[in-house]
Amino acid sequence: MSLDRKAEIAANLSMVREKINAAAIQSKRNLSDINLIVVSKTFPVSDIQYLYDLGVRDFGENRDQEASSKVSQLPKDVNWHFQGQIQSNKLKSITSWASYIHSVDQFKYAKMISGFAAEKIKSIFLQISLDKIPEIRGGVDPAKLQELASQISQLPNINLMGLMAVAPLEEGADSAFARLATYHQEFVKNFPEAKYLSAGMSGDYESAILHGATHIRIGSSILGNR
Ligand SMILES: *Cc1c(COP(=O)(O)O)cnc(C)c1O
Repeated sequence: MSLDRKAEIAANLSMVREKINAAAIQSKRNLSDINLIVVSKTFPVSDIQYLYDLGVRDFGENRDQEASSKVSQLPKDVNWHFQGQIQSNKLKSITSWASYIHSVDQFKYAKMISGFAAEKIKSIFLQISLDKIPEIRGGVDPAKLQELASQISQLPNINLMGLMAVAPLEEGADSAFARLATYHQEFVKNFPEAKYLSAGMSGDYESAILHGATHIRIGSSILGNR
């Protein structure tokens, strides 16, 4: 059983890597500029260990309690990413295990992360809303992005990586990510250091790569349906 599972995960991983490679070629981008984060939420530690053995070092989780327990059971050189919805009362714990927090959409959260980080710098992405009604499912209204980023860039212990987005439900990923690319280009003019773009999930990562994603977050294509 576990041998089958390992083989299944290995096959899925190599298929995803092939598609990433093809999308990189198609968009004339360097493969090394595209970082794969395997979203391991709801899947057991044994699956993460298989992926670790296959060379994966970046894993994403959405819930603090589940992640904390996994982190303690896996090697120290894993880079943990948090991409779930932030809750203030969980943020201290999240900051203790996550090296990257993708879903920051309010100044108060960035300020808390800055405080909890102490001397250990935390890398964060600002989640931008692509929804027709901005902020309906998290993420900052694009119109408020510059101001939020300016405020956050003053905080100590924070490394502002760039932007993060999730494709909206009511619009195709291609057109949403095309808009995202324009927001990103505008953003990088003002924050040249914050040049990264976290976008793309199992259903839309190839489109995200074509539109400039540097960090793609893939769960079900590698680990199966949740
Ligand atoms: C769950 C999740 C993912 C991974 O989704 P899949 O469709 O399983 O690839 C990526 N990003 C966020 C924000 C998620 O919540």
